[in-house]
Amino acid sequence: MTYPTPGLAARAGGVALVTGASRGIGREVCRELRGAGRRVFGGCRAPSAEDPSAPFEAVPLDVTDPASVAALAADLTARGVTLGALVNNAGIALDGFDAGIAERTLAVNYFGALAVTDALLPLLADGGVIVMVSSGMGETSCLAPALAARLRAPDLTRAELDRTMRGFVEAVGRGDHERHGFPSSAYRASKVGLNAAARVLARDLAPRRIRVLAVCPGWVRTGMGGPGAPRSVEEGARGVVWAVTAPDAPREGFFRDGAPIPW
Ligand code: NDP
Repeated sequence: MTYPTPGLAARAGGVALVTGASRGIGREVCRELRGAGRRVFGGCRAPSAEDPSAPFEAVPLDVTDPASVAALAADLTARGVTLGALVNNAGIALDGFDAGIAERTLAVNYFGALAVTDALLPLLADGGVIVMVSSGMGETSCLAPALAARLRAPDLTRAELDRTMRGFVEAVGRGDHERHGFPSSAYRASKVGLNAAARVLARDLAPRRIRVLAVCPGWVRTGMGGPGAPRSVEEGARGVVWAVTAPDAPREGFFRDGAPIPW
């Protein structure tokens, strides 16, 4: 018996934490999960007490700040929270390309998502779900074939992946990232890393029956996507909510609109 009591799975299944909940896709995912009857914690860098319309219980969270991540885990632990779902949605896409941009982008989109995941894993129920809000820009087709093969290898470890992503930032600083197989886009590299992390976590967390899915929301009209994007936030959030709630959702893979897409 995996759960100490049959009730724990049911209770945890109703609790979700979404990062980057202040606006955009994250806020809409919170709204829809709450509408589906979930208790939803929304991680916000600057939670506002004066936002009664927020569709979540706000918790302070800057995914790049280890103290903030640790404080969130401690707070939820003290409150006796067990999570059924973690949605790593917080993300940035910066203009330009240099080592500073690569470092800042990976700090949020890759290392931030994994720091939150590592810190909250003890609170995630067996049989729960982790959703990485990724992007089609993170397909391994943007890498040189040897690097793509390594990041898709079934024996890839978290340690090797973390080293590879740190290596990207260092290579950008030296100006030889293309020679090492990386794209000239920090955003692409960060989402390639996030997708690889989803594969590694799905394999490593299989004994706990934790599903780990990467989801591309499509091009969405948000602060990041801009006003010219074809999709509304509702359309962008739908596939993320599906990954959390669908009873028949798979246990791993990369999806858009509930259908598998190439890694
Ligand atoms: P927005 O720019 O609208 O929102 C980004 C969210 O991330 C905000 O809540 C922001 O908080 C939060 N955030 C940024 N940095 C941090 C941090 N250090 N710690 C905690 N939260 C942070 O983006 P979208 O809603 O469009 O994007 C959501 C996700 O979807 C991202 O991962 C993005 O890469 C992905 N995506 C988006 C696409 C699009 O077309 N919009 C396409 C493909 C993928 P704050 O308000 O404090 O800045």
